[in-house]
Amino acid sequence: MNQAPILFEDNENDQKSAGQEAVAYAEVLVTLPFGDVFDYRYHLNLPLQLGSIVQIPFGKRTLYGVVSALKSATNTPPNKIKDVMSVIKWCALKEQDLAFLKWMSDYTMIPKGLVLKMFLSAPAAFEPEKPLYAYKISEGFSGPLTDKQRLAIKWFNGKSKAYSSSEIQKGAGVSAAIVKGALDKGALTLVPFSTVFQNPDADFLKMTYSPEQGEVVKSLSHAVSAQRYEAILVDGVTGSGKTEVYFEAIAQALREGRQSVVLLPEISLTPQWLERFEKRFGTEPVGWHSQMTPAQRRKAWQRIAKGEAPVIVGARSALMLPYPNLGLIIVDEEHETSYKQEESATYHARDMAVARAYHLEIPIVLVSATPSLESYVNAKEGKYTFLKLPHRHGGATLPSLEIVDMRSHDKKATQGELHFMSTKLRSALVEAVSKGEQALLFLNRRGYAPLTLCRGCGERLECPHCTAWLVQHKSIERLQCHHCGFVAKRPKTCPKCEEEDSFIACGPGVERIAEEVKALLPEARLLIMASDAFETTAELVSAIEHIQQGEVDVIIGTQMMAKGHHFPKLTLVGVIDADLGLSGGDLRACEKTYQLLQQVSGRCGRAEKKGHVLLQTYYPDHPVLQALVANDKGTFIEQEMLMRKTAEMPPYTRLAALICSSQDQQLVEQWVRALGRNAPRIEGVEVLGPAQAPMAILRRYHRWRFLIRAPKNYPLQKYLKSWLATLEVPRQIKLQIDIDPISFM
Ligand SMILES: [Zn+2]
Ligand SMILES: [Zn+2]
Repeated sequence: MNQAPILFEDNENDQKSAGQEAVAYAEVLVTLPFGDVFDYRYHLNLPLQLGSIVQIPFGKRTLYGVVSALKSATNTPPNKIKDVMSVIKWCALKEQDLAFLKWMSDYTMIPKGLVLKMFLSAPAAFEPEKPLYAYKISEGFSGPLTDKQRLAIKWFNGKSKAYSSSEIQKGAGVSAAIVKGALDKGALTLVPFSTVFQNPDADFLKMTYSPEQGEVVKSLSHAVSAQRYEAILVDGVTGSGKTEVYFEAIAQALREGRQSVVLLPEISLTPQWLERFEKRFGTEPVGWHSQMTPAQRRKAWQRIAKGEAPVIVGARSALMLPYPNLGLIIVDEEHETSYKQEESATYHARDMAVARAYHLEIPIVLVSATPSLESYVNAKEGKYTFLKLPHRHGGATLPSLEIVDMRSHDKKATQGELHFMSTKLRSALVEAVSKGEQALLFLNRRGYAPLTLCRGCGERLECPHCTAWLVQHKSIERLQCHHCGFVAKRPKTCPKCEEEDSFIACGPGVERIAEEVKALLPEARLLIMASDAFETTAELVSAIEHIQQGEVDVIIGTQMMAKGHHFPKLTLVGVIDADLGLSGGDLRACEKTYQLLQQVSGRCGRAEKKGHVLLQTYYPDHPVLQALVANDKGTFIEQEMLMRKTAEMPPYTRLAALICSSQDQQLVEQWVRALGRNAPRIEGVEVLGPAQAPMAILRRYHRWRFLIRAPKNYPLQKYLKSWLATLEVPRQIKLQIDIDPISFM
């Protein structure tokens, strides 16, 4: 066993030997929720530079910070000045990182210290390394095992890769004792963790491309080699081979020895995506996401910061890592609104990614089958290079779409049972299943019924902590709030009119559709694909395998089924409620609906057999549905752009939102009214509100909103800063600043 490398050094001895004259001062930004910097003294033999990560005393604590300036004098009185304790020698932030950090803080109004905290999100990485071990399958083992132990072995799926105990536990859904047991029996072998990593090989699999793909590959490779800022939008239809095409840009960066990072919405970081990557490059990339164990985070952070991780795939926060050598950023599914982080610090990862690439002077590739309007406008205006993949790969054709007018549909066609599927969809479903093909019924609603209503008095069951209805879940026999997780039993009597057994389920969720399919096709093999249907990744992986192997006839899925998956046998998609999402007055309602339905439709007909999509709607003439059926994205986007322009909405103007919330209803109302009175009156800037948020109560917090609109190039952040400086935020009030809001709830 080699000795662990020294990652962290104590410099106490050096300091003692240094003369009093050999000192200077470092301005340090600390990982606390404000933007102030503090001066610290350091001895000149300490290798400090701009961007150095240092450990410093702060009050009674010891914190990490980053050097934002070096100077020879300080205004801090000599009796107040403290010493830098130590410096991390094996990594530092670059000047461009610091410039980006400042820019991001200025733009999003997230305090600099919090942005820094995102960069230093694995402080354990700075601590001395303990030897780590991982487990791999023992070759040729054939002894007896318990069922649980076999489950753990099966999870390896024959791969020779080594995994940590916690990875195996999480993936296979077994305990640490099971892993240990399999080790003791000799089915698993312990190997030092450091030998586990294998770097992706740019030429592991030789690819061939259609002429159309080849053109895009060439442009992307050029951009990578040019090593300067360029934003590229790749607009490729579902099934056009976008992923393989951008893999080629990664291959180019690999060949040239630079790091690449791929951002994916958390929901799209599927085992299938990783499999495709491994097939192309011979190994998995380094991940960076919320599902990692602390040990994985720490190791990944170290490898990334040392430049030992050539390809990183991750969620939003992967953007804020100290890459020494980043040469390419890819944002897949760039239109996804989940790139907007709304908890704690509010920022849009796609927009931040573009700024990050700009500061690093590297190319960024935005990829989507349904680009966001913002990116589309940037491409049209020439700010982004526009590359298109308008055809499906390998001769497959795009599915045909058909609107089913539900206005003439009678839900109560048969006695007692409600039908949420039209006659047309029902017969298409029967036909597909009888031919041995697969069908997907899409409904973006978990549970059995979205609303429970009293037949006697119309009382609706609401969450006591949120402005939201309780959703009935048959599988767990409970009513649940999808916002805060509150769970309740269905009351026996109505709390309002006291009638007994008066509650009825209104509207369908995926569980209810499953019930209808069961009645229609009792023999069919059903599978519900919803985020709450699986407890472990292993369960999800095996569900996907079942579909791929043709062991499922009908999939009933929420938006987790909308993207990324490639199921060759799937030929029919039935959208139960195409109108869901069109209402609500959201600025992007049409755009989002168009994107989602386009993605869902794209799941079918990806192999030889053509796919067919049925869209059930009560608004058959709606422009969104008409554009989908005509496969006329161009016209739809032009219309949307015109609509936004006329309504003076982004991207033609700028918006910001202030969300003020508190458990103290009276306090927050008084405070927002006072704040509203203080709003500076400036020509062209419009302040709407304060108004109670549509989601007026969320997890017991009473919520109020302001919406601020300004001309496109107006410095909105400055305006907000001077406005907010007029009134102190009481401790009991949470103030969220949302620049370029996506949610208006
Ligand atoms: Zn009632
Ligand atoms: Zn709730």
